[in-house]
Amino acid sequence: MLIRTHTCGQLRDAHVGQTVRLNGWVNSYRDHGNLVFIDLRDRYGLTQLVFDPDDGALAEMMAAADKLRNEDVVACEGKVRARIGGENPKLETGKIEIAVTRLDVLAKTENPPFLPDDVGNLPNEELRLAHRYIDLRRPSMQRILGTRHRITQTTRRYFDENGFLEVETPILYKSTPEGAREFLVPTRHVPGSFYALPQSPQLFKQILMVAGCDRYMQICRCFRDEDPRADRQAEFTQIDLEMSFVRRDQIMEMMEGFVRRLWKDVAGVEVPTVRRMSYRDAMEDYGIDRPDTRYDLKIKDISEFAGTLDFAIFKNTLEKGKDRPAFNSKKGVVKAMRVPGGAEKLTRKMTDGYTEFVKGFGAGGVAVVKVLGSPAVPAGSLADDMKLDTGIAKFLEPKKAEFIAAVGAQPGDTVLFVADTYGVATKAIGELRQKVARDMGLMPRPGAEGGPLHFLWVVDFPMFERNKDTGKWVAMHHPFTSPRDDQMQAFLDADVEDEVTIEGIVSAGYDIVLNGQEIAGGSVRIHDKAVQSKVFQLLGMTPEQAKEKFSFLLEALSFGAPPHAGIAFGLDRLVMNFVGTDNIRDVIAFPKTQIGADLMTKAPSPVPDNQLKDVHVKSIAAT
Ligand code: ASP
Repeated sequence: MLIRTHTCGQLRDAHVGQTVRLNGWVNSYRDHGNLVFIDLRDRYGLTQLVFDPDDGALAEMMAAADKLRNEDVVACEGKVRARIGGENPKLETGKIEIAVTRLDVLAKTENPPFLPDDVGNLPNEELRLAHRYIDLRRPSMQRILGTRHRITQTTRRYFDENGFLEVETPILYKSTPEGAREFLVPTRHVPGSFYALPQSPQLFKQILMVAGCDRYMQICRCFRDEDPRADRQAEFTQIDLEMSFVRRDQIMEMMEGFVRRLWKDVAGVEVPTVRRMSYRDAMEDYGIDRPDTRYDLKIKDISEFAGTLDFAIFKNTLEKGKDRPAFNSKKGVVKAMRVPGGAEKLTRKMTDGYTEFVKGFGAGGVAVVKVLGSPAVPAGSLADDMKLDTGIAKFLEPKKAEFIAAVGAQPGDTVLFVADTYGVATKAIGELRQKVARDMGLMPRPGAEGGPLHFLWVVDFPMFERNKDTGKWVAMHHPFTSPRDDQMQAFLDADVEDEVTIEGIVSAGYDIVLNGQEIAGGSVRIHDKAVQSKVFQLLGMTPEQAKEKFSFLLEALSFGAPPHAGIAFGLDRLVMNFVGTDNIRDVIAFPKTQIGADLMTKAPSPVPDNQLKDVHVKSIAAT
């Protein structure tokens, strides 16, 4: 075989006159009758090959060149010369071509189901996934693999420089109720027992801290058998980190340094100091714990004003949970969002659709008010010609000035209201805010290069929330997250039946949000056995159950556990941001479909009965 001396992206005019060898795939061919042009492709680029009897190409080689087709694999030797047909400025190698004198066809291809070019329309994704080896030959996919590689390399470098040890943790793990549904693996050696695949190495990294490892990192695979969603994969990758003897601020600084380094190294972008926002402010202003602050559209609680209206729907809502403290999920509230310019841009059809939209989040509907009049008045002040175009005019008109002041409205605005319990209204209007941003054209394309980057730390989450389906308490981050230092005693003293107190306990968790997506989440951990046991109790575990599931953790915590804290970044999401795609499958070499199928290997697949028998499993699936 003619082993390559250069890659297909390497040759420049400085190489003219040299005899070189190239290896690669036929990207395209043009046959000009006894003169054949081939663009040869590898990961590094394209180079034009010329087969011309005038350059000494023998008849036998001309015949072979004539038969070359797209995606054949070849090796060749020839002389580099300046392009006779003129430069191709689109190619890095566009100044030169190779006058081929030797050709070796290394592999002929069958007729490929599609060609790996980025120029034409892509075939459907199923076909691409079934033949991923062809799809990955596309230059844009090669670039994504390269970006992902650069991200992991920078990650390893940064954390190595900061004294982190990379430690591998088991894939065959114990079933633990961490949140999501687990994948189970039967074993031949212990009939009826199963491993679970880890949802994350959470407990191992904490135990590594108890083991004195001090600073841990791992680029690890996590497995969660969750319901399919477009931006999720059952198998995904985290950059997983843990540190001992740190307070919340120190780990946040370390991670901010990482983010800054990553964006600088990979995208050449300076990330400014990441601002912090409390969970409460995020929920109040944006109705979500990962606010997209690239656009304004803030939400306002106007319960006080709404209570002065003679409007039964608002009045009844505000009666709900009246005696509960502010922000309690069951307390009735009225939330409003002012949409500047909405009066013109948001059509009746759109705003009618908003009611259906919020019903999906449990709210009853949306009240819509268009503020009309000459635009030249400052926000929040009333002008003579101001009119409210709304189905609830009867109730609003008598309090027009107060309404305008309460929402800070201006002519040209549309104001949208949702009245419900705090939990429902906040969620509904937060989701509506994102929809309105799209409808108003305020939402930049996800992660597009050069687009704005809005990083945020969101901190001070509640420790617990009620599971919507079961009504039981669940940990908002995970059960190993500590209460914030100043909440510790209140948590230890709290009666687990005291709903209002429990809901008010704030955790020492933190998330990094980028443009409305959570890119990392972590927390200061519990390192005290009594606190951990209380969390388990609150989550409905009996001491026996807690012991059965987590005796190893509780034991470890009782043998000298240092204070520790950690975080995990979603690597796939990070890559998506750098390459500007909103399809998670684009950034994973061998992804699965939404229902977890690998279309190339055809996994999952049935296995023979004897193999099942070996692992003591009987399938009850209908065959
Ligand atoms: N293990 C956590 C997760 O996967 C992250 C962390 O708390 O470090 O979300």
